[in-house]
Amino acid sequence: MNIYEVQLRQESPVLVSGIAADSRYLKHSTSYIEGYTLRGALLTYISRELKKDVKEEALKPTIIFHPAYPTFRKEVSRPAHPLLLCCKVCREDKIFPSIDSIEKIRDFDINELFKVTCRRGHLYTVSNMKGELVVKIDKTYYKLSQYLQSLDSTAINKYVKSSEIGMLFGYLTLLPVHEEDGQLKQNIFIGKIVDTENKLENLLEEEDFEIKIGRGKSKGFGKFNVHIKLLENYVEKRTKIIENVLQKTNNIIMLRSLSLSFGLEINNHGIFTNLKLDLDAKPHYVLKDKNYLLTGIKTISGFSLKVAHGGIPKPRISGAAPGSLFFYEINTDKANYLAEKELKGFGPLSYGGLNILEVVTDV
Ligand SMILES: [Zn+2]
Repeated sequence: MNIYEVQLRQESPVLVSGIAADSRYLKHSTSYIEGYTLRGALLTYISRELKKDVKEEALKPTIIFHPAYPTFRKEVSRPAHPLLLCCKVCREDKIFPSIDSIEKIRDFDINELFKVTCRRGHLYTVSNMKGELVVKIDKTYYKLSQYLQSLDSTAINKYVKSSEIGMLFGYLTLLPVHEEDGQLKQNIFIGKIVDTENKLENLLEEEDFEIKIGRGKSKGFGKFNVHIKLLENYVEKRTKIIENVLQKTNNIIMLRSLSLSFGLEINNHGIFTNLKLDLDAKPHYVLKDKNYLLTGIKTISGFSLKVAHGGIPKPRISGAAPGSLFFYEINTDKANYLAEKELKGFGPLSYGGLNILEVVTDV
């Protein structure tokens, strides 16, 4: 099994969207790059540009694409989990965790989430981060802002070369830059590719290449420069980190979802989704019979099978939104198992970057 880090440097505005207010207005709707989006774009590149056959991978997937999150000061951001709170009045250190350290998870009390004062004592100014993108650098949390810009475009008639009446379209795109300390920096997204049968080295010819993501490719939208790097001894290194967390927390883990997370249940009435992860561990309840704290419920549906070689089926799927936390009790000797689950996913459709979660190593 080869594990790669994939770096995506955004070169033009991008529009990835399934949601449209009406058919004439398309809005970019995600703050990170979904695994299935990357999967579709990469397999399209291999098939169209490198002229290699990807049918086998499309039908029987063996390569897992994790979601790719944007960087801020060279750190990869993460969706804020529900234990992170934000004070609207504080100027510095606005974002703070509701427990002081990861050691305190075992005794975590749900009432911690209803704090009415921040650490400086401001009253009724505290709110939840609801999955917004954050990075932690030297004990301080920073929120990542992304710029969206509205662009208009008319459909041009191929034959008479004039605009089509009534065919004005609006696009809300993600610009390729963000702000860091008062300067504009190019957006870079970082994720992982888990190549379970080591097929990628034969499919790709170079470590650097260009792919297109999302809509409006003819308008120049969605250009990304890709760089792929093999990660050496990744599982061993990650196992040590998880062991260390389990020792600190006395065998409790918090898993943070980086993608939609859910379980599937099939019975006589149809296919249903639930909030049970595929993990051999004892749920640790934080609220009555719930072992999770959600940032929200998200629903996805309607993948284009024609474009995305991903081969993901079409039913509507609901699950925990990115940033949601799941709590379990598990022995330290299972650290290696957890490191493998992080790579291979905690439920169905992980080849398309769904059910990807990671052990939280620090609040
Ligand atoms: Zn405050």
